[in-house]
Parts: sequence; structure tokens; C-alpha cells
Amino acid sequence: MYKVMTPGPTQVKENVRMSMVFERENPDIDESFCEFYHETCSMLSKFFNTENEFYILGGEGILGLEAACASLTESGDRVLVIDNGIYGKGFEDFVKMYGGNPVLYTVDYKNTVDVKRLKEYLEKDHDFKYATVVHCDTPSGILNDVESISDLLSEYGIMTVVDSVSASFGNPLSMGNIDILCLGSQKALSAPPGLTMVGVSDRAKEVMYNRKTPIASFYANLSTFRTYYEDKWFPYTMPVYDIYALRTALDNVFDDKDIFERHHRIASAVRKAIVDSGLTLYTESGFSDTVTVFDVPEGISSADIMNIMKDKYNILVAESFDVMAGKVIRIGHMGENCNMSDVFDTLNALENALTELGCDLKCPLGETFMKEIL
Ligand SMILES: *Cc1c(COP(=O)(O)O)cnc(C)c1O
Repeated sequence: MYKVMTPGPTQVKENVRMSMVFERENPDIDESFCEFYHETCSMLSKFFNTENEFYILGGEGILGLEAACASLTESGDRVLVIDNGIYGKGFEDFVKMYGGNPVLYTVDYKNTVDVKRLKEYLEKDHDFKYATVVHCDTPSGILNDVESISDLLSEYGIMTVVDSVSASFGNPLSMGNIDILCLGSQKALSAPPGLTMVGVSDRAKEVMYNRKTPIASFYANLSTFRTYYEDKWFPYTMPVYDIYALRTALDNVFDDKDIFERHHRIASAVRKAIVDSGLTLYTESGFSDTVTVFDVPEGISSADIMNIMKDKYNILVAESFDVMAGKVIRIGHMGENCNMSDVFDTLNALENALTELGCDLKCPLGETFMKEIL
């Protein structure tokens, strides 16, 4: 087995894996499960400094994004899709699928969304039911200031859907004016893949509960959870083992007092090593502390780098996809991956792979990282 250093799925800590081997109650019948679920959701509210309710849905991160759009969108609704990355643009499809009219706000994929420019745009056109924006667009590693963006949108009465699947638990975030916050289990939380968690504001609930037309989905309909706690009833069987694992991962996060500081320190040192060695970071502004993305040097293929790292050094990093396929390599240093020793090993292996492929580095990657961090 190789060391997984991808930006999701990430490594899963032993106590999280172990929590899946015990026998568990029947989640449909045993009310104690409903209490456990409710308590776990409350921990999410606490973590994101909000009174808003969270739900845990059986399905990966993508389900959360789809559920947000399915639940809010009615036929003909104008939706502002903030697009400075692949996931950012991806929201267009979900909005369309549920009959909405997506309006793309497309800006540079190498830079964080400029909130002042967005404000200028909104001055001219703000007739949107909601907007979508990605916190960390994982294929490029861009970090957007979703707190300021949702504050701004809210001044215009526009609701905000945020995809923070690959940023949360690595970059700090308060839910604030965000209306639907989408999270995933397999990124910085380092639980097994399979769950999405969504935080829903009262305003978003009001909109969902008072639609003119029914929500065109059952599985992606967030309003089916409306009275789950009072009724002790879930719309479908909850994946009880996965949710216990998620809870252990969340307990780990609550016990981890310097989680954000560590993510920032490690990410900064990785970026410094990359830049000092003469490699080029993909992103020019807005760096997520969960993933580092750099350009594949001229004359080398990303597949060759990946393969040498995997076959010779047993370390798995990631390429990218869509418009970024073949152009960059991504190191996921989030959650369980975010520790000095794994990141050091990864950078050493990367340095060896690049050297083997004929790339001249100005300084050793691993050593530079270590010097920076100690
Ligand atoms: C991983 C990820 C998702 C969810 O993808 P899944 O494959 O369903 O886990 C959504 N948005 C972003 C930004 C992601 O990185």
C-alpha cells in the first residue's frame, strides 16, 4: 500500500477506521441513533460558529452540491455562478438540471475572486435568487474569501451556496451569512468517503419550504429532513457505520487544538520549497492551506512524475482534470496528510522523481521545507 497524499480521499486515522468495526444499532428503529446523529450535527454547527442546522447525507460531497441546487432552484430562477475554477463552473450544470437560469461570473482561474470587482458587477445586476461559490477549488488550489463574498451577496438579498468540501477543517470558516454550506467526509476531515454534510440557514429553509413547485428529487431534497429529530425518522436508512466514523474524525478535529495553525505552517513551507526550487505555483493569489498545485515543468509529463513517485517511492499524489488535465501536480496536505513527516517524504520523492526526469531544481525540496518549518 502506498502513502496517500492526494487532495482527497485523504489518509484515515486508525481510530476512525476502528470505529467502523463495532456492531451498531439499527438507525431506522433505535432512537439512540437519532440522538447520536443530532449531536454530531450540533458539533458541526459549533465548529462553524453558527446556530444553523446541519444534516449528514449518505452520498459524497457532490450530493451536497446537487442537494443545495435541487432544493433552492425553481424553474427560471436566475442564479449567479461564480466561476474561477472547475468546481466553480460546475455549479452551472446543477442549476440548469433543476430548471434554473445560471448566469456565469467568470474570472481568472489563477486568482482569488476580487470582492471589490464582484461588488461593481452586482451594482449593475443583482437580480439573483442565490449565488454559488467554491471555497477551495481543488483542481487549481484557489482559495476564495467566501465569508466576505457571502456578506456582500447578502447585502443584495442574494443567498449564497458555498462548496467548502476541500477547504473546511483545513482553512478556518464561520458560516456567517452563508445559506447552504456543503462539506464532505473524505477531504480535510479525513473520514472515509461516502458522506456529505450540509449546513442550512433559516432563510434557505424558508425558501425551500415555501416553493411554488415541488423539489424535483427525493434524495437531493433537503426539506425531507425538516422534522427528522422531532419525529425520530429519517427519509432513508442512514449509513450508520460511516456516521460513527465521521463522528470519531470530528472528535479528532475538536481535540486538535492547532489544526488551522498546522495546516497554514505546513502549506506555507511547501509553497516556499516549491518556489525556491524554481518550480511555479499554479495559483497567483488565494492559496488554500489544504492543497498545493504547481505547474508540470516543460518537457516532462505529469503521468511520469506520478508514476515514479508511486512505483519507486510508494507515494500517491494527484494530477488534475478537465481544463487542467496534464498541466499540474497536486499535493494534498490536509487532514491526516497534514503532518511534517509525510509531507517531507513526499517532497523528497518529488525531488528525486523530477531529478530523474532531467529537471534541474535550484534547491532540494524536502530540505527546504524542513528548514522553513523548524
Ligand atoms: C472533492 C470535492 C467535491 C466532492 O467530490 P466527491 O467526489 O463527491 O467527493 C466537491 N467540491 C470540491 C471543491 C471538491 O474538492
